[in-house]
Amino acid sequence: MVYIIVMVQRQTKYTRAVSDAVARQGHTTNQAIRHDLHKQDIIVSDTTTHRVTQRLQQSGIIREAPKTKDGVMRFDSNTAQHDHFICKSCDGIRDISISEQIKPLLAEQLDGCKVSGNLVIYGSCNTCSKKTKGTT
Ligand SMILES: [Zn+2]
Ligand SMILES: [Zn+2]
Repeated sequence: MVYIIVMVQRQTKYTRAVSDAVARQGHTTNQAIRHDLHKQDIIVSDTTTHRVTQRLQQSGIIREAPKTKDGVMRFDSNTAQHDHFICKSCDGIRDISISEQIKPLLAEQLDGCKVSGNLVIYGSCNTCSKKTKGTT
């Protein structure tokens, strides 16, 4: 009995710490979550982080965001329907909201094909645009 309670408490502690880390970072990866927790002296394994993020995703507390450049799974603290802007240089990701306005236009060009899911727009973020300007 006691053993079970301890297990549950430990699980809750990690789940809480991981969901807090995602909330703080907005969009994040398992690796970034581990770094964040490490800074607070919470040491979790890859496997545990992965399990916790899977569980949080299944229960709808966090959701999956577009993957990183390297194809690493990225999580989102914003669980509402939304679109993303991704910087091609630094791989930074921001929430945007465009699909509702743009979906009818896309459907028109696609002869009525239905556009579903969230949209991802690529470009160069403010910081990266400034950097490129600076070197030319
Ligand atoms: Zn950038
Ligand atoms: Zn997002």
